Order: sequence, then structure tokens, then C-alpha cells
Amino acid sequence: MNNRIELVKGDITKMKVDAIVNAANNSLLGGGGVDGAIHAAAGPGLLEECRKLNGCETGKARITAGYGLSAKHVIHTVGPVWYGGHRDEPEKLASCYQTSLELAMQNKLRTIAFPGISTGAYRFPSDLAALIAVNETKRFLMKNKFPEKVTFVAFSEEQYQTYRKLLEQ
Ligand code: ADP
Repeated sequence: MNNRIELVKGDITKMKVDAIVNAANNSLLGGGGVDGAIHAAAGPGLLEECRKLNGCETGKARITAGYGLSAKHVIHTVGPVWYGGHRDEPEKLASCYQTSLELAMQNKLRTIAFPGISTGAYRFPSDLAALIAVNETKRFLMKNKFPEKVTFVAFSEEQYQTYRKLLEQ
């Protein structure tokens, strides 16, 4: 199982994978954080394709091409804003991982990389977010052959250590 899950520290826009996952907002029209970095690296074609999607619900995901990125595709998922945990935030975040992995499977993608969805501007506690990311991914990989490999991309040393401890268990 764990040979299908990998952890790296760095910039997700540089990943050479079949799909990188974007922590998008409901408009899918770009924003700050990882979303801004992905759009900047992909170039204007990505925004053009995103405009045609007419947004995305929280907890759901959409797929586009990768344009100027090394990744072939971008899977845009909309994480929940953290309001304290009583607005179904954990379930919505779990749904982001499930729907993104389902899209990868449906498109027969072999490799996919995730940032810490909702753990920046959306303020989701990063320990709980990492636990949900790892649990949902393990659950999905147990049942499905695609994607073959999932990479978690930590953007800080702290985030890296949080994932490392969870993946060692
Ligand atoms: P959200 O609005 O879903 O919280 P953010 O983009 O604000 O999205 O943050 C999500 C996570 O992505 C944070 O953990 C942040 O540190 C991380 N992040 C920001 N830029 C990058 C990048 N270039 N590569 C990987 N992770 C990134």
C-alpha cells in the first residue's frame, strides 16, 4: 500500500505527473496561494478552459489540461473554509480527495499529486487535514488500481513532518 503513496516537500507546479490537484475556489477563476501559482505556471489557456466549467461546488472536482505545466492535467477541487468544524468541513474535505481520485481513475491517470487542500487561506487545521488526506487516499487505493501512485506535496517542513508521521504508522 505505502509503495503507492509518496511524500515530497516542494512546489507542486513543478511536478511531472499525470495530474496535479489545485486547491481552487468555487469560481474556478483563479485566486491566491497554490491556485495562483498553478495558473501563473500554466499560462492563460488554463483560465480559458476553467471559464467554460461554470464553477464547482465545495467538495467536488473538475479536470482540465495542464497547458504550460509539466503535469498533463489539473484536477481542480474546492475545499471547505474552516469555520470551527461544525459545518461538515471534515466530510467536505474528504469528498475533495474522493472526487479527485475518482476523476483520476476515470481518466486512467497513473500519477497524481495533492497539495494540502484548505490548509492555507481556508484555515483548515493542518494535522486534521493531513489525516483526512491520508485516510481517504489509503481507502481509495485499497479498492482501485488507478491512480497507481499518489504524491503528497508538503510546502513547509512542518507540513512534511505531519504527513511523514501519519505515513509511518
Ligand atoms: P486553500 O484556499 O484551499 O486553503 P491555499 O492555496 O491558500 O488553499 O493553501 C493550500 C496549501 O497549499 C497550503 O498548505 C499552502 O502552504 C500550500 N501551497 C501554496 N503554494 C504551494 C505550491 N506552489 N506548491 C505546493 N503547495 C503550496
